[in-house]
Amino acid sequence: RGELMKGKRGIITGVANHQSIAWGIASQLAAQGADLAFFHLPGMERRVRPLAESVGSTVIEPVDVTDDASMDAGFAAVEKAFGKIDFFVHALAFAPRDQIKGSFVENATREGFRTAMDISAYSFVDCARRASRMMPDGGSLVTLTYLGSERAIPNYNTMGVAKAALEAATRYIARDLGPQGIRANAISAGAMRTLSLAGISGGRSMLAQGRALSALKEDTTMEGVAGAALWLLSDLGRSTTGEVVHVDAGFHMMGLPDDSDEG
Ligand code: NAD
Repeated sequence: RGELMKGKRGIITGVANHQSIAWGIASQLAAQGADLAFFHLPGMERRVRPLAESVGSTVIEPVDVTDDASMDAGFAAVEKAFGKIDFFVHALAFAPRDQIKGSFVENATREGFRTAMDISAYSFVDCARRASRMMPDGGSLVTLTYLGSERAIPNYNTMGVAKAALEAATRYIARDLGPQGIRANAISAGAMRTLSLAGISGGRSMLAQGRALSALKEDTTMEGVAGAALWLLSDLGRSTTGEVVHVDAGFHMMGLPDDSDEG
């Protein structure tokens, strides 16, 4: 336990279960003294409430990021409970299943593309605008992204395009809110065993290849991702904004695999 987040209050989105990246981040922030409010997808309360309560949270709100009324209600509830906030964690994404398999060119539909962009990219802008209004003393916003934004990864497809938009949005948010002392950063996590990964065709292969082709030759750990979030959300990260930080055991920067010089 530590005190890096002592006196800081903030909102965590995207907890679905104990494997969620959002939960890994939340538990590490709580261990460092943060007070947390949780936004969960309506219908997930049964799973989220016990987790949230285990870290002392009493502000647990159903929020669907595609529904303005539920966003209004969620942020209003946090404002009532906390007044101001210091940080916001955006750890959610969605694309219809047919958008994250096979041929991107053949399978991308207008509606599927729109949904993925709305939930996975636009929602961060909307959350940033609302959260920033509750950050009179500055603050820090963090979102989660994946390498499929920078490289064409099999099956990731429409979600990769949405993540590219999310990363660009992070830079524009950082630019706009910087003068108010509000930072915005993205953590590009390596493949991790969560519900979202299970929804992607070939998710198992993303995990195995991520490990085999990484510099560290291991899976990305929750500890590593949550540690990066702690750095960016605490005062330790005070000079970093508009950045995409890769936390992937050194997968993104490798060139050819190790056996490519054989023969
Ligand atoms: P997860 O399934 O545990 O979390 C995804 C969350 O998104 C869920 O809690 C779900 O309820 C929420 N969500 C979906 N639609 C929503 C909506 N309309 N309104 C509100 N919430 C909604 O999986 P995860 O892997 O922890 O995903 C968290 C973030 O991390 C996502 O942005 C994901 O793309 C990103 N990420 C995951 C990996 C990985 O390998 N698991 C790697 C890099 C980045």
